[in-house]
Amino acid sequence: MAKDSTFYSALDPKRAYYIRKGLKVFKDKLFGKNAKDIKITVASSKLHQNFPPGAAGLIEEQELNHFVIYIVHKYTPTINDMLHTLAHEMGHAKDMYLKDLEQVKGGIMWRGRLFPNMSLHHAVQWEIRPWEVHAEGLRVFLMENYGQEISKEAKPYQAGRDEAEYKAKQTKKENASNK
Ligand SMILES: [Zn+2]
Repeated sequence: MAKDSTFYSALDPKRAYYIRKGLKVFKDKLFGKNAKDIKITVASSKLHQNFPPGAAGLIEEQELNHFVIYIVHKYTPTINDMLHTLAHEMGHAKDMYLKDLEQVKGGIMWRGRLFPNMSLHHAVQWEIRPWEVHAEGLRVFLMENYGQEISKEAKPYQAGRDEAEYKAKQTKKENASNK
């Protein structure tokens, strides 16, 4: 059985915990009984060499039915943000698994139609690309039905590392001005 993994533990164990939870639920809901044949790795964008500027997430099929999803910490400061990005990228994973979405030599193949000179790495103009619109639909479906609950559970940790750093700075400031 293919085993999923995350590379987020070094960043923040709480984020890693809820991302793993989202990954498991989204995967079961998207792939059903085929979920066991698919492996998904969630990784930090820092592990990707040519990450497109401005993108919060990116997906690559590393080998057949092994997908790697990269998430950008900068654009996903809360666990909720991360879950939204994860759900969107998993929408792509489903379409890639079904071969509805393929990165081919000349561009992107979406349901038999070639979009020349395009790649999954493009960060701009995603609203004109039908596979992005479709992934957005799947994101909304996953988040509304399953992700929101995880997000709610994660609320005490929602702020993540940035918020903790921010709070520490504020406290320092307050202490300094109280003197
Ligand atoms: Zn996308």
